[in-house]
This record gives sequence, structure tokens and C-alpha cells, in this order.
Amino acid sequence: MRNVLIADADISTVEAPCPLCGADQKTLLGTFHFQNKLLGLKECEKCRLVFVCPRLTEQAMDSYFQAYTDVSSAKTIDMWRAKKKPNVSRDLTLLKRLLPGGGKILDVGSGYGFFLEEAQAMGYETVGVEISARACEYSNKKLGLDVKLGRLKELNLAPQIFDAVVIFDVLDHLADPLDELLQIKRLLKKGGFLMVRVLNRIHYALLWQRIVGCSKEDNHGSLSRNPFLRKDHLIQFNQRTLKLILTKAGYDSRMALGAHLAFRIEQRNIIRLMRRFAGWGFSMLWFLSNRRLILAPSMTFVAYKM
Ligand SMILES: [Zn+2]
Repeated sequence: MRNVLIADADISTVEAPCPLCGADQKTLLGTFHFQNKLLGLKECEKCRLVFVCPRLTEQAMDSYFQAYTDVSSAKTIDMWRAKKKPNVSRDLTLLKRLLPGGGKILDVGSGYGFFLEEAQAMGYETVGVEISARACEYSNKKLGLDVKLGRLKELNLAPQIFDAVVIFDVLDHLADPLDELLQIKRLLKKGGFLMVRVLNRIHYALLWQRIVGCSKEDNHGSLSRNPFLRKDHLIQFNQRTLKLILTKAGYDSRMALGAHLAFRIEQRNIIRLMRRFAGWGFSMLWFLSNRRLILAPSMTFVAYKM
């Protein structure tokens, strides 16, 4: 949405093993600057997950997201709502298809409640979890939603109460995504499902690096200007590693859904139209490849609790 810089005193970095398989062996793919720190992008030699290492600590990421979501005026929130609207409609269409009779749903990282607001209006019983105090207050006071402030692991919600959990554009920001998936599984009823959306751009980022590359630079900050790399993501999933982590957390990921363009461009009409065409193209390719090929820069998976 916009670049925010948090106070330097809050920022520290940490080296950690692979968040999927725990292995320590990793290959350095490049480095980049984020929040005035030089961070690395590495690939696990065992499971081939691509993740940021060293990365900012969880506290530093929390401060970053507090600042990121700290929009002050209703106008800005409305602008944000308008921007998110296409995603929300698509997500609701899918939810309605998978859970047509209504039910109880949880949105992890519900932000300003745009998705929950619409879901509630459609008759779903909704709960949200959000780390931004301001977004949480807005959701509860302005929208009349039930959104709890904090991280899932701190909230101690009752087990097996949700028919569906959604986690959109959040899992790839987390230091321990596997733990988050296990927490969510605990909350789902048997046969309930998770809808998870993450970015799917690492192929593009690495291709860009190979073609445009860093031939004139040394390795320091080589990925800093890569337009496909979102610098505030700790994990760079592809469809294989997303499926792998869902399987490791004990889900049955039966269905992958090729998603849509997610470039951050001003949405003039012509660009909106191009995005729509590209979205159809990606969906067609996904369907024609027997649901294997996801080229869209973001992807949604549905995974069931067995
Ligand atoms: Zn690994």
C-alpha cells in the first residue's frame, strides 16, 4: 500500500532455520535492503522453501505492520476498501460456493474488516483476529464486528468451532507459518476448511534477477530493486511449497485455485480491464493444465481438515 519506516531502535534481525522443515542448510539467492537493514533471501537445501534470512524479528515486523495499517482518516479507509473490493468479491464467491448454507467463519489478519463486513451481511457468523489496534477498533466500533486484538496463538480461542477459516495475504508475512496453520487446524471443525492466499511471485523475481540481474553490482542489495520481490514478506511460497506446508500441518489440500494479478498499479480503466483479461488467462491455463500450472502472481488454496 505504501512504504513505512519504523523507528530504527525497534529494528533488529535474526538468523533462523527453515520455517518449513527446520533444516539449517540454505543457499543465498541474493540480498536486499528493508527498513535500512541488509537482509538475505535464501533457499532451503532440503525442502527448497525460499525465505528471508536473516530477517527482522517478530517484534520488528509487528511494529512495521502497526505503522503500515495505521491509516488515520475515514477517507483513507474507504479508499483502501475500494481497492480491496475485487478481492473481497472473489473471496466471497468462493466462500459461498464451498459453504453455501452459512456457518461460522474466522478471518485471521482481518485488517479493517472489509471481508467480514460483507460475509456477515451475507448471513455468516463471523469472528476476526487482528494485530493492529486501530484496525481492530474500527472493525468493532464502526462496523459492529467481533474482532479480537492479538495473534492467534495468544488468544486461546475454543477448539473446533469454525466451519471455515480464511487467511488472506498474511501467512507469507509470518515467522512461523507452520505453527499458524496448526493453530488454525485446532480451531476448525472436522471437515472444515481453510482458504489461504499468498503471493506467487518468486519465479518472476528470480527470472528478473537472471535476465536484468546484478552484473554491475556486487551481491550487496542485489535484490533491492527487483520489482517482483515484496520486501515485507518473510516467506516466498510457490505452489509446491505451499502445498508442502499445508500437508505438513495435516491438511488435505485438494484444490488449488489459480488467482489473479496483484501488481500495485493505479487502477485506471484500461489497466483494470487488462488485469481482468490476465486473470481469465491465468485461470484458463490453470484449468487446462489439469489444475497444476499457477502462473498468477498470487494464489489461493483451499485445504480441508481431515
Ligand atoms: Zn526446509
